[in-house]
Amino acid sequence: MVHEYDAVIVGAGGAGLYAALEASKTAKVAVVSKLYPSRSHTGAAQGGIGAALGNLDEDKPEWHAFDTVKGGDYLVDQKAAMILAEDAVRAVYELEHMGLPFSRTENGLIAQRRFGGHTRNLGEAPVRRSCYAADRTGHMILQTLYQQCIKNNVQFYDEFQTVDILLEGTKVAGIVTLELKTGEIHIFRAKAVLFATGGFGRMFKVTSNALANTGDGPGVLARAGIPLMDMEFYQFHPTGILGMGILITEGVRGEGGILRNNSGEPFMKRYAPTLLDLAPRDMVSRAIMTEIAAGKGIRGDKKIDDYVFLDATHLGRETVEAKIPDIADFCRTYLGIDPAEKPMPVQPTADYAMGGIPTDVDGRVTDGTTLWEGLYAAGECACVSVHGANRLGTNSLVDLIVFGRRAGQDIARYVKNAKLSALPEDGAQRFTNFRNKLTDGKKGPHPGPLYKEMQETMMANVGVYRTEAKMKQAVKDVQNLRHQFAELRLEDTSRQFNSDLLGILELENLLDLSYITAVSALNRQESRGAHSREDFPERDDGTWLKHTLAGFENPHTSQQHPAEAQVAIRYKEVDTSVWTPKPRTY
Ligand SMILES: Cc1cc2nc3c(=O)[nH]c(=O)nc-3n(C[C@H](O)[C@H](O)[C@H](O)COP(=O)(O)OP(=O)(O)OC[C@H]3O[C@@H](n4cnc5c(N)ncnc54)[C@H](O)[C@@H]3O)c2cc1C
Repeated sequence: MVHEYDAVIVGAGGAGLYAALEASKTAKVAVVSKLYPSRSHTGAAQGGIGAALGNLDEDKPEWHAFDTVKGGDYLVDQKAAMILAEDAVRAVYELEHMGLPFSRTENGLIAQRRFGGHTRNLGEAPVRRSCYAADRTGHMILQTLYQQCIKNNVQFYDEFQTVDILLEGTKVAGIVTLELKTGEIHIFRAKAVLFATGGFGRMFKVTSNALANTGDGPGVLARAGIPLMDMEFYQFHPTGILGMGILITEGVRGEGGILRNNSGEPFMKRYAPTLLDLAPRDMVSRAIMTEIAAGKGIRGDKKIDDYVFLDATHLGRETVEAKIPDIADFCRTYLGIDPAEKPMPVQPTADYAMGGIPTDVDGRVTDGTTLWEGLYAAGECACVSVHGANRLGTNSLVDLIVFGRRAGQDIARYVKNAKLSALPEDGAQRFTNFRNKLTDGKKGPHPGPLYKEMQETMMANVGVYRTEAKMKQAVKDVQNLRHQFAELRLEDTSRQFNSDLLGILELENLLDLSYITAVSALNRQESRGAHSREDFPERDDGTWLKHTLAGFENPHTSQQHPAEAQVAIRYKEVDTSVWTPKPRTY
């Protein structure tokens, strides 16, 4: 079945919905989503959205932009960070006017709290910048935007899995999707396609990310020959629930929560004397791993899966119940611990991809040399880049709202004069060939163990601390798994809701992205932001102040899956036109 639209948005999280809302004002727009929209991971965001409203402390967008650049260890494109910070203020008020129920100050203003790396006057002291709706900020954003889209008659195709992109040279023609309910293939022909497919934390064993966060957009585009940017920078959030990775928002530390080691010591004072527990995430995660390696984890066994305590007991029950009610619920449900009475056992958890599909500030996909006409990306799957080597908490929700909207506006402009591209003869051929092979009656391995091995090697070898030997091991392991992937076969061959097939499609994307991540990480011989190498402990601006572009040398655009496909690396300049890079101290 072929559908025709001016624009197709792949993904119904915050970025996709905002883009759809804008583009649909003048264009015919469809949103294609593998999940029912309100199940998108944006709904899990807890702590808040950063904007220099200055409701409780003096604040300015320039300070927000500076913190973003410094927090990103100077790999951030600085003019893009200025746009992010300046537009954040408008974006938050716009959400408020759409009906988002923010928490309030006593005077009825939008309440704000502290978050890691957000400071007053270029680093002097912490500032209250994060706007929040208790610890359900993302949920409220998602619901608000979805309601607005419904009001504006955006057409939704829910539970449709995008499996391929159709290009005419470097111009977009459409996408190939699988309707999960029927197993039917639908082609969407469009002048513009925006990928807003979210993150890919599922490549790691311990992660805060939902099961569906498998990097489908970047996976599909990488196989089509589009390079991905800065993939070595993957953020580990310092406070995941022990063993499970479920996130405990930085908002807990924003409200005054304190990290403690096995002697009860608030150890962050030794690592970040000014910002303490509210230093940026990369630094706090490293501090926890360093404490553990020194035998100061709670078990004291120096193993990677040891942990520390996040103590909120001194905040009082009233604050815990009012400001972090969902967190309190998670802890009671999963740990049998009441955070108002006992400290929470935490360890770093894979949380956020700084890297992804390279775009300009209007969401247009470009590696700086080639512009893929009509192709857009926004949200976590994109790399503008406003997060550089390490994202500050609350800046992802801003990124969705600011750059999702800008992409939507640019799409509306672009489709007015653009023409539909010709569709290839049988655009779905590659996918049907792949599905036929999976059901050819031969016996093959099950994807489960491959998935587990990938997550284990990525966690152990491309985690918080990295070395050449570890990363080489990861590259080897993942390459091995990509070979085994080619042998997979489906046990369940039915068409309706075939979750086995969905699992294989998702695994393919994760394997390709793990491979690109490990190769990019091995290549970068310095420590910067979330990429921390024991064998190259210093930041090296002389050689490495540049973005990585890593792409398949022999694009395969398909599920044909040549595991041999090698990754080639190029570089792109970083925009440092506003602030000169300096060493980071907090
Ligand atoms: C637990 C948690 C808490 C967080 N808290 C905060 C916070 O407080 N503040 C903050 O700034 N950031 C936070 N983040 C980060 C932030 O929430 C995410 O980066 C952001 O919500 C991602 O939004 P998105 O629109 O890019 O993608 P998502 O919201 O993940 O949506 C992705 C969409 O793409 C669709 N999709 C994916 N693959 C396909 C496919 N193949 N075909 C069709 N559709 C597809 C999905 O159906 C979904 O609708 C948090 C993240 C997590 C995991």
